[in-house]
Amino acid sequence: MLIYDLDLTSLTNLLQQWDEPAYRAKQIWQGLYQHLYNSPDEFTNLPKSLREKLAERLNFSPLKVKLFLDSSDGQTRKTLFELQDGHLIETVLMRYDPSTNSGKGRRTLCISTQAGCAMGCVFCATGQMGFSRHLTSGEIVAQVMHYARALQEEQVAVTNIVFMGMGEPFHNYDNSMAAIDRLNDPDGYNFGARRFTISTVGLVPQIKRFADEKRQVNLAISLHAADDTERLEIMPINKRYKIDEVIQACKYYIEQTHRRVTFEWALISGVNDTPEVAHKLVKRLKGLLCHVNAIPLNPTEGYDGEATDRQRAMVFKEILEQAGIECTIRMRRGIDINAGCGQLAGAVSTRQ
Ligand code: SAH
Ligand code: SF4
Repeated sequence: MLIYDLDLTSLTNLLQQWDEPAYRAKQIWQGLYQHLYNSPDEFTNLPKSLREKLAERLNFSPLKVKLFLDSSDGQTRKTLFELQDGHLIETVLMRYDPSTNSGKGRRTLCISTQAGCAMGCVFCATGQMGFSRHLTSGEIVAQVMHYARALQEEQVAVTNIVFMGMGEPFHNYDNSMAAIDRLNDPDGYNFGARRFTISTVGLVPQIKRFADEKRQVNLAISLHAADDTERLEIMPINKRYKIDEVIQACKYYIEQTHRRVTFEWALISGVNDTPEVAHKLVKRLKGLLCHVNAIPLNPTEGYDGEATDRQRAMVFKEILEQAGIECTIRMRRGIDINAGCGQLAGAVSTRQ
């Protein structure tokens, strides 16, 4: 059993079964999530017998570092982890220089929720791989703890967590939310709800459920097209949920939470970066409490679309902004280390 799969109640029950006093669960919880211990030996406040029991019965290290790569500017680190059953997942840390205006000293961690992905977006390296399995909540949490420990050595911490690694978090809804709850616990890691962003391909029932739960977590929707026919060409999920339904679900989310929605847009040259498309997008989003986050496509092996150049990206942004829709063009990060979603795992499994 993986220790990170347990919430505090399950851990307390387990220790009760072991005839341990109730306060031990709290000590272990704090050790894991406040002191960031990752092996039973580090719990020096526990009796040796309990440490041995923990070592025998619980798994503390579900992720094996298979490979890590730093971008040439040293600001992005991508780690390829091997899960216990051999599947590969990726986690990326992006640091933002404190001396620049954008993001002042942020350290954003991009985590995976599945090995592979079932949604099959054609431009996405993970989508091209297909679906292997859901991650458990503990495997999601363990990615954060790995980087939290690495940064602790520099006396800094993760400042933002985005669910934008491999997989579709709303397809693995319960485990993704359980991971958020565990990391959010004020007696544990205490990571603020507002510093998480969940990114979804647009699964309508889950967007509504998320809205009903009134979480303070940020929501991002991968839109990438403003027309159903065009979206279907690059995102098979559009067969199930049309753009209108997705936008309706976003409206519901905004009503329930009063929070702004982010729409993600991978700019693909000649496909979804033209002024015509920008105008269509304006029509779709006008009046909605939202923001468009556009990023030039990260080229992948299985898709021959190309990244938009800077000039076209600026024209696209202008059209949106003139219509009162906020738009940021994100810089591509870690392009030299295949930091795009799923690209490293894809490359490694092709090589094997
Ligand atoms: N499955 C979720 C979250 C993971 S993907 C989702 O699709 O939203 C995170 C983001 O990266 C999504 O917006 C996705 O569309 C985008 N993305 C995937 N492949 C990309 C690529 N090759 N270039 C640019 N963005 C990409
Ligand atoms: Fe899955 Fe997101 Fe990639 Fe689409 S973009 S295939 S939903 S990970």
